[in-house]
Amino acid sequence: MPKIKDFPDTGVVYAFSIRSDGNMSLRYGNTENSLNNRKNFLGGLGINYKDLICVQQIHGNQTRYATGKDKARGALTYESAIADTDALVTDRKNLPLAVFTADCLPIFLYDPQTPAIGLVHAGWRSTQENIVTVAIQLMQEEFNTRVKDLCVGFAPAIRECCYEVEEDFKKFFLIGISERNSRYYLDLIRINKKQILDLGLKENNIFDSGICTVCNNKDYFSYRKENEASGRMMSVMMLR
Ligand SMILES: [Zn+2]
Repeated sequence: MPKIKDFPDTGVVYAFSIRSDGNMSLRYGNTENSLNNRKNFLGGLGINYKDLICVQQIHGNQTRYATGKDKARGALTYESAIADTDALVTDRKNLPLAVFTADCLPIFLYDPQTPAIGLVHAGWRSTQENIVTVAIQLMQEEFNTRVKDLCVGFAPAIRECCYEVEEDFKKFFLIGISERNSRYYLDLIRINKKQILDLGLKENNIFDSGICTVCNNKDYFSYRKENEASGRMMSVMMLR
């Protein structure tokens, strides 16, 4: 199972699925085997797929504090997932949080001291709305997380090499747009990293898988490559 190099994994389980794990979405792509795919993938991590907490992602910046009463929301049906939410945080043990992506950037947040975790679904719209900042601030408010303790991990996502956008994206982002041969490319990782550093996190507490879902489409689902047919990977995180 692929990991983010050097991201701490004591007291926490975190993982992202790959294409060969199958589609993890109950809503997008061919969903026929999704529940079984979740069962196998999560089973390998020692997580019961029926406990999973999922969100109905809408590319906003709404972040929720997940507690025991949220357990199993979205585990078996899309409709039961937490609505209008793109990030979850918790300080509860054995509550597995999940987001689903095919190019968007999943961000793992881990405060090993409290301990507490967060999981963010950051596409460009959510990034524009500072979702990672909102999630970290919620961890500070709810758990007294100190930024010096916080570790951040970037899972596979579409990278600057492949994320061509319209020129008008320059209106949305002050940094992270580059120009090559009169084409414009967005660097979601750079922008999220800047937001994180602006909160005072240490650069050496930021860890990046470095994987582009488009360049590595053989191993990862990519909406940009596969359009509507694309399945979704799962990123999952749980305090032990
Ligand atoms: Zn690429």
